[in-house]
Amino acid sequence: MPASPLTIPFATDRQFIGGEWRAADGGATLALEDPSDGGELARIGRGTAADIDAAVAAARTALDGGEASAWGRLSATERGRVLSAIGRKVLENVELLAALEVHDVGKPLKQARADAVALARYCEFYGGAADKVQGATLPFAAGFTALTLREPHGVTGHIVPWNYPMQIVGRSVGAALAMGNACVLKPAEEACLTVLAFARICAEAGLPSGALNVVTGLGEEVGAALAGHGGIDHVSFTGSVATGALVQIAAARNAVPVTLELGGKSPQIVFADADLDAALPFLVNAGIQNAGQTCSAASRILVERPVFDAVRARMSERYRALRVGPAAADLDLGPVISRRQKEIVDHFLALARDSGLAIAGEGSVVGDAPKGGYYVRPTLVGDVPPEHSLAQDEIFGPVQVLIAFDGEAEAIRIANGTRYGLVAGVWTRDGARQMRMARALRCGQVFINNYGAGGGIELPFGGVKHSGHGREKGFEALYGFSALKTIAIHHG
Ligand code: NAD
Repeated sequence: MPASPLTIPFATDRQFIGGEWRAADGGATLALEDPSDGGELARIGRGTAADIDAAVAAARTALDGGEASAWGRLSATERGRVLSAIGRKVLENVELLAALEVHDVGKPLKQARADAVALARYCEFYGGAADKVQGATLPFAAGFTALTLREPHGVTGHIVPWNYPMQIVGRSVGAALAMGNACVLKPAEEACLTVLAFARICAEAGLPSGALNVVTGLGEEVGAALAGHGGIDHVSFTGSVATGALVQIAAARNAVPVTLELGGKSPQIVFADADLDAALPFLVNAGIQNAGQTCSAASRILVERPVFDAVRARMSERYRALRVGPAAADLDLGPVISRRQKEIVDHFLALARDSGLAIAGEGSVVGDAPKGGYYVRPTLVGDVPPEHSLAQDEIFGPVQVLIAFDGEAEAIRIANGTRYGLVAGVWTRDGARQMRMARALRCGQVFINNYGAGGGIELPFGGVKHSGHGREKGFEALYGFSALKTIAIHHG
């Protein structure tokens, strides 16, 4: 099954700095791979610290460069209009963006389209929200008026991963622009075509020069240069725990606030009274979407013992029907992003077999999938002891574990018993238990009788423990991307 050819309608090896497309400092490039066949898809610029310097300077000029600062002079309403115009242009370009994502990330077409629509939705949401953020007047001493203002941080740095480039740029850059920051964005070296396309769309839609700058390259080169740059006023990082810690250390040297959106080992908890018909699609889809390479993947399925066999049987049946193949074929799963990612997933599957864990269900790779592609059979494992590596560590591939439990207290103990705390799902018809569970789970989001419904553009998102800190998405993100100023006026 050959992947359909992709024509990229722009030069991919350019950096977007101060409204201009230019070669990386030094002119070096890196190859982007199509994970569906392992072939070279395009070349991107291998930026350097000098590119980051130039991008930060361009962002600063956009904010407070006198005549050149078109962005900094806009009112909140005008910023909102620009974001809304970007959203409309994104919608006009959904098919192009989806095609780029299919080949760059290896994401099945319908999932890539959904990501492009979500990007538009973030621009609409933050476009509408830009002029709704208000301060307060504060009761204070006689003869004073005291008030608070929300102001942009200034230049914000955004480091994003390869798994959902469009959605993560939408939520992070969208909210930062709404609050009047100027952004320097570093996409992942594994996949960044839609980020480059988005920068073009922003310029076409009227975003002033320097408000958004994009520097491509290696994480340890341009990512590190951005995180530790003295001209940055805030860093938003989405990625792994290990890199997040490095970013936080680098930013701490400049006393710069950081939002960390990191990994997860999120549970869905199924009680014996749950509506299993309603739960089943969510149980499986939240584990295999984007080949399991989702921070909020429901990689642990906790099932109350009386219904354990029934849930395992029904999930197994669904797993056996799952088909994996080239992203353009738009099957249940595409490939994982890279050879390295496939090796990681294969390591965990070998560990499951070596530990004697039961394989409860496996999908299949279509016979004519290109040999060079990074295909992994989705695999359901269980019953797995809660302390086993497969039930503790983020695999970032299409592997879910089943864990049996007895009663609410044990469900809470197991659910909270990893180093992560991103998302949880609870399936029960008991209203009081719904609320008890929602309060007892240590994580940033709890879904009751659904999981991740609607994509969550409006819902604040982020983790506790090793899943990170700070919140993106929803209105809450606007507080994170602004600083509060208090003003006390003495008027007698
Ligand atoms: P990663 O940490 O390797 O890379 C993420 C980004 O950081 C990339 O742009 C990379 O180039 C950059 N980077 C790498 N080294 C750097 C350094 N030294 N300094 C600064 N930047 C550097 O993560 P990954 O493997 O690409 O992504 C997968 C991880 O991201 C998983 O753990 C997943 O759970 C997490 N993730 C979290 C969320 C969330 O919202 N919580 C969303 C998506 C992915």
